[in-house]
Amino acid sequence: MLPAVPNLLDYDLDALLAWFSELGEKPFRANQVMRWMHHEGCDDFDAMTNVAKGLRAKLKEQAQIRAPALLRDSLSSDGTRKWLFDVGDANAVETVFIPESGRGTLCVSSQAGCALDCVFCATGKQGFSRNLSTGEIIGQLWLANKLLGAAAGGDDGEARENGRVISNVVLMGMGEPLTNFDNVVAALRVMFDDHAYGLSRRRVTVSTAGIVPAIDRLREECPVALAVSLHAPDDALRDRLMPVNHKYPLRDLMAACRRYLERAPRDFVTFEYVMLGGINDSDAHAHALIALTRDVPCKFNLIPFNPFPRSGFVRSPAGRVRDFAKLLLDSGIIATTRKMRGGDVAAACGQLAGQVRDKTRRTAAYPLQTMEDALS
Ligand code: SAH
Repeated sequence: MLPAVPNLLDYDLDALLAWFSELGEKPFRANQVMRWMHHEGCDDFDAMTNVAKGLRAKLKEQAQIRAPALLRDSLSSDGTRKWLFDVGDANAVETVFIPESGRGTLCVSSQAGCALDCVFCATGKQGFSRNLSTGEIIGQLWLANKLLGAAAGGDDGEARENGRVISNVVLMGMGEPLTNFDNVVAALRVMFDDHAYGLSRRRVTVSTAGIVPAIDRLREECPVALAVSLHAPDDALRDRLMPVNHKYPLRDLMAACRRYLERAPRDFVTFEYVMLGGINDSDAHAHALIALTRDVPCKFNLIPFNPFPRSGFVRSPAGRVRDFAKLLLDSGIIATTRKMRGGDVAAACGQLAGQVRDKTRRTAAYPLQTMEDALS
């Protein structure tokens, strides 16, 4: 449902400046409100003490600051924290915070469900419901920041002194960010804005299944660190695992990655590669990957498959993952293996199911449930 009055979390600074100018307000007022919202985590216009009283009253009438409602807050034994957010209309999305020494990464969702239907992904099994608005995307960061005590209004002084609690953001949650381009880019701009989160482009990663024209648009309009979900070294296998490959085959995808690097804030692309036992994890697959990516400066991130009910896949054995990584390393490609984090709260890659009202298909085959319900 559209809010009756604008939700200021939907606005990047340019949009907020434009809206303030329509109200007849000066630009610095927009900067002030942006800082209250995002530095202080403030959603109450009355609390914006350096904003003129008359303007506060006007804002109270004509605007709101509203993040998605929190439905559940789960803490894993390894410190990973997962939030389930209500995005209305029987849809919920998930956000995951992964603390590591020296950094804290927030994994953000961009859509309720996903239309791409990658066969090994729990989100894909649910079908697609809708794009998240900018406010719903940035709202995940806004609320996580508050709940982690990182906003200035929070009470965790120690965490603040040690620097940012959320130092990195990855758009690797539910959905395909590059098919929700405009809302995602506006949210990215808020992440970079010094009046808001002030994150560097190198610390914000967009992960895509490979929407070639949108990779080019991202390079032009808002270059950030890029991760590409590769998962297969040849078109025949990738067609089977990721239907999007029919439209954007590997040759085009590799060319898009090379073009992207001309403008990217980092000088490599990260290729994500889910290790599916007996499917894409042989030595021959590794050699084919090395050949495929010869002209693309890249790092590999191997993700041992995370199971979910009725997936039909198994995880590659740990020894296989090690041997596969070694082949890549021996050829000079940096390859890391993603640690399983948050498995006990179903927060690991590919397990984010949230809750989605499938407007496209197949709800009967995959009934509405969260992964926790499914696994318990
Ligand atoms: N649509 C984007 C964002 C999703 S990111 C993309 O495809 O990149 C989530 C990452 O986890 C992707 O690399 C995805 O392919 C991977 N993934 C999906 N299901 C998984 C599973 N069950 N186990 C491990 N990784 C999975």
